[in-house]
Amino acid sequence: MGLFSKEECAFCGNKVGFFSRKKLINNEGYVCKECEKKCSALINVSHFTRDELKKHMEYMEKENKLYEEAFVPIDKKNKQRFVTISTGIECADEIAMFRYVSPQADKKVYKELFRYDQIKSYEEYYKENTNASNGKKYSEVGLTIHLNCSRPQFGESAGSVVGAGSRNYHPYVHEIQVPTARDTDSFSHVGLKDHLDKVFGVYEDNSFVGGIKSSIVGTNKERQERKVAGEGFKALGNLAKAKITGNEEDAEKAKDSLNTLKNDAADLVTHNRASLTRTANEVEDRILGNEKLV
Ligand SMILES: [Zn+2]
Repeated sequence: MGLFSKEECAFCGNKVGFFSRKKLINNEGYVCKECEKKCSALINVSHFTRDELKKHMEYMEKENKLYEEAFVPIDKKNKQRFVTISTGIECADEIAMFRYVSPQADKKVYKELFRYDQIKSYEEYYKENTNASNGKKYSEVGLTIHLNCSRPQFGESAGSVVGAGSRNYHPYVHEIQVPTARDTDSFSHVGLKDHLDKVFGVYEDNSFVGGIKSSIVGTNKERQERKVAGEGFKALGNLAKAKITGNEEDAEKAKDSLNTLKNDAADLVTHNRASLTRTANEVEDRILGNEKLV
């Protein structure tokens, strides 16, 4: 009960004290420090049920196999490392995946990889400097990488989440923050953003519309153009119908088509996505065979 009582770990059965355990949700028991090492550094184990965490550990074991057999053998000069303040990512373009590097991640039993095609967007972040004495504008700057994720945010209802079972949706992680500089006056990405831009085929103009414009010049432009145009007409059609009928179902349909349109337009900006998916799928299939990751 109290601070000094020992509780059993729900995974290995060892009796562990207060400081060596974390509580699972729904009063489903505890996970010990050692078993937590089998989990990702980017999740909060206290937000998991026992079954969910067990599944997560199995997932991490498979991820580790991928890491060992697909990532490790790649020559260092063919990997791109963006780690400035001991935390960052290391990219392996040839397998369309990257790994997360941090002091916490280094202590884990299993390493994990992230697929490029799980990246939804990325953007600069900055923390305004509140310590006036050093005169710098920002206390920290960096890049936030948002992932498509099929797990609801903690406290969010499961119904609002899509993508379960799709390989281009990460099953656990919503975002990864990569600090690139501290106590600085300017943004400095140390090439990380440029690299991702290159991976996703975002050239020249970085605005949304600019991205669409420049990608239309790209290789599979016609197919993409037609698809977006088609979705656009569908969205407009549904919208008009919803207006005329005042029908809620029609309004829902209109909303859906607008969302599809938005997604397709975003895909235009990142027109390499299909080939990134193909590459990552091939690697996973080669190493994990019929074993599914989730
Ligand atoms: Zn344990």
